[in-house]
Amino acid sequence: MTLHALDSDFVRDQLVPRTTDMNGKRTLPDGAYVLYWMQSTQRVHENWALRAAIRAADKVNKPLVIHQGLDPTYPHASDRHSHHILHAARETSTCAEQAGLPYQFVLRRTRDDDRRVVDRLAEHAFLVVTDRFPTAGVDERTRRFAERVGCRVLAVDSACIVPSGVLQKAEWAARTIRPKLAKLRDLSLEPVEDRAPRVALSTDVRAMVDEARRVDALALAGMSDTEIAQAVSACDIDHRVAPVLDFVPGAAAAAERLRVFIHERLPYYNARRNEAADDFTSHLSPDLHYGHIAAADVVRAALASAAPAEDVQAFVDQVLTWRELSYNWCLHTPNFDQLAALPDWIQRTMRAHDDDPRPEQYTLEELDEARTGDPLWNAAQRQLVRSGVIHNYARMLWGKQIVRWAPTYEDARAWMFHLNDRYALDGRDPNSVGGIMWCLGLWDRSWGNKPIWGGLRPMLTSRAVKKFDVGRYVRKWSDVSSLA
Ligand SMILES: Cc1cc2nc3c(=O)[nH]c(=O)nc-3n(C[C@H](O)[C@H](O)[C@H](O)COP(=O)(O)OP(=O)(O)OC[C@H]3O[C@@H](n4cnc5c(N)ncnc54)[C@H](O)[C@@H]3O)c2cc1C
Repeated sequence: MTLHALDSDFVRDQLVPRTTDMNGKRTLPDGAYVLYWMQSTQRVHENWALRAAIRAADKVNKPLVIHQGLDPTYPHASDRHSHHILHAARETSTCAEQAGLPYQFVLRRTRDDDRRVVDRLAEHAFLVVTDRFPTAGVDERTRRFAERVGCRVLAVDSACIVPSGVLQKAEWAARTIRPKLAKLRDLSLEPVEDRAPRVALSTDVRAMVDEARRVDALALAGMSDTEIAQAVSACDIDHRVAPVLDFVPGAAAAAERLRVFIHERLPYYNARRNEAADDFTSHLSPDLHYGHIAAADVVRAALASAAPAEDVQAFVDQVLTWRELSYNWCLHTPNFDQLAALPDWIQRTMRAHDDDPRPEQYTLEELDEARTGDPLWNAAQRQLVRSGVIHNYARMLWGKQIVRWAPTYEDARAWMFHLNDRYALDGRDPNSVGGIMWCLGLWDRSWGNKPIWGGLRPMLTSRAVKKFDVGRYVRKWSDVSSLA
């Protein structure tokens, strides 16, 4: 589909360019229900995959079943992520019940626990609909599942504002994707119709679901915080990465974060967002990553606000252009998180400079423990470990210093992913890939030919004083005890 050929079809049904057939198999007419396997879009509001599942169920007069699960095997599985997911799922289960949507959550605590729950649920399904998400192992898991099961599996993109299927190859840079997304923005902001399926889950079908599940679903709605903490501690995951208790997970908290940002900080966003010691950004990246809020909701709120146009424009550019550039890269680039995926000029410059002496070097362990000789870098690492995010400007500096300090570019790549994805609440996201690969030259031009950097854009923490109040940022994140 070409962009200028986009017509009323697009307006009529955004589901077409949002939907990928994952296995080319048939729907099973005898299937008892349509299964929505909720993976990365962990919400019932403004969810295109859920809408697709409800529409399909209504069309064939079958009920809907929503299944969400959590395994101990997801990438960088830790208390931090599991706590976040379970707390939000408790809210999802309540919202689903209020909306008349049959929802269940299954927690697989250890690797020995049953791992075929969703496969068995699929055996009784007419169709499975799930989320399209290129990172955090989601698309890979879906592909393997789609091969194994007998019925059709559709993956629907609810992550992007402009349906990702509209752009069919990887874009070169923000400047190439920006006008394409801008052209489709307003059409794409059409709200998803939230409604319950027409056919309710009968007692018989409910019994069939319970039987297929074999294990108990978690009674999330009635669980206290302590019970959730106990469930997390019983999981076979990394218990060294603690939950971020002052970042409240879930759709309601995300909506409140958005409301406060729009009223209090958006009016200063353009001029002050790079001030890393202050809070002028939205802090919505974990919510967007887990799908606790829809990017379309965020952009609609910004556009409807009374904030100055330059602030709205700068913010919308981040949420739309930069975020969807990352998604587009991951969707259309084989091995998107590997050095080999980077453009030729970067391959050449890396070959020429990989063996350059690195006079300042640190080990991964020293980086992890924020034990470098650079107070600004250490502060950024502490912010990551403690709060689960890094301010964007500090994050660029954080990544660029790893490029300078790691023994090779490949080490730099692997270490950035390891540290980012281990600690970041917004980690394992297409934006993690975009941000880290940007530090390695992606979407950038050649900046000359310097030792170690080659043609990569050099960024030094020593020059950051010109950009923001480094002293205040370092003091803010100087609490070493937070690393314990
Ligand atoms: C090395 C490195 C690693 C990164 N890792 C991640 C990551 O794991 N997860 C993540 O979501 N972002 C990542 N980013 C991008 C960026 O740092 C964060 O999206 C941003 O800091 C989140 O803060 P915020 O929500 O307050 O942003 P705001 O400024 O309020 O922006 C709103 C939203 O726009 C999007 N956005 C903002 N800046 C960028 C950007 N530069 N690129 C892409 N999208 C953007 C995000 O979805 C963000 O939540 C990384 C950047 C770098 C340089």
